[in-house]
Amino acid sequence: MTHKTRDGSEWTPSYLTAIDPVTCIGCGRCFKVCPQGVMTLYGVDDEGKILGAVTQDDEDGFDGDLNRKIMAVEHPGSCIGCNACSRVCPKNCQTHQTAESMAA
Ligand code: SF4
Ligand code: SF4
Repeated sequence: MTHKTRDGSEWTPSYLTAIDPVTCIGCGRCFKVCPQGVMTLYGVDDEGKILGAVTQDDEDGFDGDLNRKIMAVEHPGSCIGCNACSRVCPKNCQTHQTAESMAA
């Protein structure tokens, strides 16, 4: 479905539908630019187990169990398809889809 920008140009939203948990380095860039709170950063231990959401006051690294961080699509329905998160991702690990491609 196409929409219009302010000057009447066509704009097709490209919604964030998935993030590859293997490729994502948890850098947080996408999280910072998202205007909709679609994503949540999670901590992962050595065995790949999710330890919980990473918060700013998580200074102890989940009691030392933190191995790495990954970003997850937490609220996909809130995405407006602005594509800002895709532009800043250094790993190209996000999947974006138009409304038409999701319906197909
Ligand atoms: S496309 Fe825009 S609204 Fe959707 S997750 Fe990315 S930054 Fe957030
Ligand atoms: S910008 Fe890319 S690599 Fe960084 S946390 Fe987001 S999805 Fe992961």
